[in-house]
Amino acid sequence: MLVSAPKRMLIDGEWTLAEGGGEREISNPGTGEVLASVPEGTRGDVRRAVAAARRAFDEGPWPRSTVQERSRVIYRVSELLERERDALAELETLDTGKTLAESVIDMQDIAGVFRYYAALAATHGGETNPVGAEALSLTTYEPIGVAGMIAPWNYPLLQVSWKMAPALAAGCTFVAKPSELTPLTTLKVAELLEEAGVPEGVANVVLGAGAEVGAELSESPDVDVVSFTGGVESGRKVARSAVESVKRVALELGGKNPNIVFADADFETAVDYALNAAFMHAGQVCSAGSRLLVEDGLHDDFVEALLARARNIKVGPGMDPETEMGPVISAGHREKVEGYIRLAREEGAELRLGGGRPEGEGFEDGFFLEPTVFTGVEPGMRVVREEIFGPVLTVERFGDEEEAVRRANDTSYGLAGAVWTRDIGRARRVARALRLGTVWVNDFHPYYPEAPWGGYKESGQGRELGVAGLHEYLETKHVCVNLDPKPSGWFGAGEEGA
Ligand code: NAD
Repeated sequence: MLVSAPKRMLIDGEWTLAEGGGEREISNPGTGEVLASVPEGTRGDVRRAVAAARRAFDEGPWPRSTVQERSRVIYRVSELLERERDALAELETLDTGKTLAESVIDMQDIAGVFRYYAALAATHGGETNPVGAEALSLTTYEPIGVAGMIAPWNYPLLQVSWKMAPALAAGCTFVAKPSELTPLTTLKVAELLEEAGVPEGVANVVLGAGAEVGAELSESPDVDVVSFTGGVESGRKVARSAVESVKRVALELGGKNPNIVFADADFETAVDYALNAAFMHAGQVCSAGSRLLVEDGLHDDFVEALLARARNIKVGPGMDPETEMGPVISAGHREKVEGYIRLAREEGAELRLGGGRPEGEGFEDGFFLEPTVFTGVEPGMRVVREEIFGPVLTVERFGDEEEAVRRANDTSYGLAGAVWTRDIGRARRVARALRLGTVWVNDFHPYYPEAPWGGYKESGQGRELGVAGLHEYLETKHVCVNLDPKPSGWFGAGEEGA
């Protein structure tokens, strides 16, 4: 089945094939079916796209447009996203394997992100600084220039939209590179950007491998900021390349996110959310609640209730309306997750559910895994410190608040996590002590376009969304006006020849 999405890259307003004529087949991880064949871009294609974005920034109308003009175009994008919601959601599900219900939510969220930045573009001004009466001191914001955007496969359109919308709002031009595994919705949105009136050369999309297309974007001296979402190892490489040309780098990397449940939590709700935290999109979520920490007195009952529900999770292809959990993205990724399942057993964790591949009709060709739960997990085990990025939940037991925080912080990551308690004082104390970019209290997973998103420690640097997300694409300028200029007499105003 060949899907209805553009099958070319967008460079300088032209829908184009790859320089060397290379192509890559894109397939459905739930069925193995080929969905499309798309160009496999090269460094040369990136150079063409960056040159177009540079020209559009240095000479074109977009960075010089009024905020009203930009806001209107970005708002129009949000309307087009709503118009195309169902088609885009279907494309995302075919490409990633996630359930259609999840993809529909993603598309609604993405339209919301464009709506938010349309509003922010029109309202985010500069500041005056309280210096003395002799000067007018202004802080002004200007677009940083050409943005390079590198996105992962788990939330292909969502992640790239978190970059495109604020970059456009700031007045930047960009070259976006979706994951080579999941480019289809990004191509479709590039078409919508054109329809909304984004001028030629402002929005460019190049496809291809990270080591080639992504590397060229991070190395290019003509790119002013590179915004990367993906794994820590690739993020390190991007940051290293970016140092050479002293460009700004924003990194949204992985997570090993604790979900802490105290004995006074609302039991049913905490069990329900713990399942969602761990198994949404088969655990392939940067903020997945893959580490459950439960207070001693509650632990055994909580685990039993959780297992009873996890056993019923309906695994299947994303397009099946009955499916609750889809496949993982690729054969290679499934093997990586299975390696961690073996490791957990070797490290002494107790397998309580799953651990294998579901069998039977419908599972032959997709990359499916069973929802998997380990208990008896202790700090120091690799399965509790490293990102598995699959449907694998580890459960730890803790004695008191101090131990919960110590265990939760005992990883190199610091993206997100949750605390479940009815004690507001404890919720605040724990939220403060956790070294995480986002802490949910009695919740898991929500994010808002209006609020910042990003990680502490190896989960990254910089913030997306909110006002902070706009500032990734802005330069700050101080303009200082002398309100009473007169000669100072500092130099050479003394006696002649002295
Ligand atoms: P990945 O690092 O393999 O790839 C991400 C992107 O980087 C892809 O487009 C890839 O082609 C590109 N890339 C790879 N090597 C590169 C290089 N040397 N130079 C430049 N670009 C390169 O990650 P993935 O497997 O696609 O995504 C999963 C990871 O993304 C997980 O670790 C997940 O936690 C993380 N993630 C983080 C967030 C967040 O908001 N913090 C959101 C989603 C995903």
